[in-house]
Amino acid sequence: MDEFGLIEQFFTRRARHPEVVLGIGDDAALVALAGASEQLAATTDTLVEGVHFPQSAKAFDVGYKALAVNVSDLAAMGARPLAFLLSLTLPAADPQWLAGFRDGLFALAQAVGIDLIGGDTVRGPLSVTITALGAVAPGAALRRDGARVGDRVYVSGLLGEAALGFLLRGGRVSLPHEFHEPVLTRLDRPVPRIAEGRALVGIASAAIDISDGLVADLGHILAASGVGARLDLRRLPLSAAYDAAFASVGYDPALVFGDDYELCVTVPPEREKALAAAASRLPCGLHYLGDIVAAPGLTLYDGQGVYTPARAGYNHFDDPGPV
Ligand code: ADP
Ligand code: MG
Repeated sequence: MDEFGLIEQFFTRRARHPEVVLGIGDDAALVALAGASEQLAATTDTLVEGVHFPQSAKAFDVGYKALAVNVSDLAAMGARPLAFLLSLTLPAADPQWLAGFRDGLFALAQAVGIDLIGGDTVRGPLSVTITALGAVAPGAALRRDGARVGDRVYVSGLLGEAALGFLLRGGRVSLPHEFHEPVLTRLDRPVPRIAEGRALVGIASAAIDISDGLVADLGHILAASGVGARLDLRRLPLSAAYDAAFASVGYDPALVFGDDYELCVTVPPEREKALAAAASRLPCGLHYLGDIVAAPGLTLYDGQGVYTPARAGYNHFDDPGPV
């Protein structure tokens, strides 16, 4: 049983309240309160030492990333970050670690404009759970289930940078020295694409943030929307660092590792003009990869023909571990 089968089998229930506009299955849930002009977007994610970050991770980076991955889910809904709750499980009260963690946490909180409003603190193996809340206009949220045949598939920024950071840190890829810091920063301090998500409201038909790899995460859009996609791998936005490593790593780190926290969106062809206008204001860029098709599943092709990655993406419970 994989992570998603487990959720489906044990926890997916029909909502009791009409205020629950969107429940389990998207990047965030949506709750509408009577009389409110905006809906609440709610999401939670946990980082566990030894699973999501090594024991050697800097406390600053743990604090930063724990919040970043949650804010990224708000970005994927097109929501405006408002507030978050912090549940900390700590083996000991180590003031030096806590100060570093706090600095990273609030550095990102300040950058994206989100307030800490509560949480919980208990003793146990190190893990950090954050629940983030955002606001979005009724009907405006970017969901996973809106992709239609003929829509075009885009990703923001660059793919595979976090994977390169992970491989570099593990001594599994060699890169020219000038690329070390950029790829490690992309792994340790991902930038949630909030401005991008909000700019895509009214333009994108579906959206997801890439936490588990393009193949897995676009796969969630395809499954939720009941469609397939065909992508040209030669269009993948890869950095100069990736180009330097391509001969030894190939496409897979950009396709199946995840941790990039870029957005993957689908856009109806008639909104291409609006998209171009929005994209011109977004520094990270939006890159066309291919199209939504009726045949289910994801087809990847390059100059040689159809390409199949070695594995589908990160999934807790049915997987040997990252790459
Ligand atoms: P994301 O990668 O965007 O954070 P996940 O892949 O972690 O999303 O989760 C997929 C969906 O399942 C989300 O809507 C999430 O809220 C929901 N979910 C995950 N675990 C549980 C659980 N134990 N109970 C209810 N819903 C869950
Ligand atoms: Mg997500």
